[in-house]
Order: sequence, then C-alpha cells, then structure tokens
Amino acid sequence: MVKIRTLAPLVTLALWCGAASALRRPLPQMVAVTRRAALSGGLSAVAAAAVARPASAGAAPAGEPVVSADELAYWRAKLPKAQYRILFGRGTEPAFSSPLVKEKRRGTFACAACGTSLFASSTKFDSGTGWPSFYDALDGVQPVSDNRAVWALIGSEVHCAKCKGHLGDLFMDGYLWQTPTALRYCIDGLALSFEPAPAAA
Ligand SMILES: [Zn+2]
Repeated sequence: MVKIRTLAPLVTLALWCGAASALRRPLPQMVAVTRRAALSGGLSAVAAAAVARPASAGAAPAGEPVVSADELAYWRAKLPKAQYRILFGRGTEPAFSSPLVKEKRRGTFACAACGTSLFASSTKFDSGTGWPSFYDALDGVQPVSDNRAVWALIGSEVHCAKCKGHLGDLFMDGYLWQTPTALRYCIDGLALSFEPAPAAA
C-alpha cells in the first residue's frame, strides 16, 4: 500500500523528495501514487509522486522500535487481523476508510493495541487526506526520527511509545492547513480507539 500524506508545494522540495523516495519505492507503488495523485487534485503528478510516502514496503527504517517475537505473537493473537497489520506490520489503511476521519466529538484518541493516550481531540483537524490528522501529540506518540529536517523532507513514522505499534506518519507541512504547530500527524484510524469525553453536566 502507498499513502500520500503530504502536500508540500515547493517544487524544489518536491523534486528532492521524489529523488529520495523513488530510490526506496518499488515500481508498483509508483503506479499507485500516480493514481492517487489524480484523485488529490491540484497537484502536479511530479509533486504528488515526490511527496508520497510508502508505508509498508521494504525494511523498517533506522531507529524504528524493535518489537520482539513474543510481543508480536501476543498482539497477533489479541488484535483483529486488520489492526495487527497496521500496528505491527507497518501497514496503511485505505484513505477515507476509517470512521475516525470524521470523528468530531471531544475526547481522546488512544492506541488501539495498548490503550495509551495518543492524541487529544482538540488537536484534530480536517486535512482532507482521508486519514485522521492531528497537529500535536501527547507523550504516548514517538517519532522514529527526531530530526525536524527529516520530518520536513520525507516525514517520519510514528509509533506508540508503550507497545511500539506503528501509528502513521509525521510531517512538517501543517502550515498548509495553518495548524498552530506546522506539524501534521497522519494516523491510521485502525491504530486508534476513540474515548469520548464525559458529557458536561
Ligand atoms: Zn500502544
């Protein structure tokens, strides 16, 4: 699967990212990228392909937390297959497939595996990408890279700090949506569970 989760508009940046990501993206994914680019509208194919992000293909990136075989076996037995694939197989759900994309209630988004609190609803925004999007994270979210240049250029995978489950990606193109932090956490809904805030008395 391929997820296109960033819309950085600078051509020079896009070209650079394209060169970087093409090196690690197999051809079938490039085809999928082009199709998704057509759906996204407004972006040139070059720019869209350049800022696309492969999710599950290839080796885990450097710095990714190591999940032991015992932990994998535990989560494989406990989680539904689709959730396991996202959280512990570095998978990606199809865009607009999660009901949490449209979740607007107050509350907290937690890890679907271990229940760690990950995102406050107050930081959720409508990115139009088809994945739940947030401009800030709670302490339970751990980027694979802490290098902001990496976030800006190719994005960083983010994981649950407790169970190390894969959640999605972090980019620094939040300025396109005028988010307060310029950050965009692009998260798979299957990696999340939503806990509504108690109704006000
Ligand atoms: Zn977790």
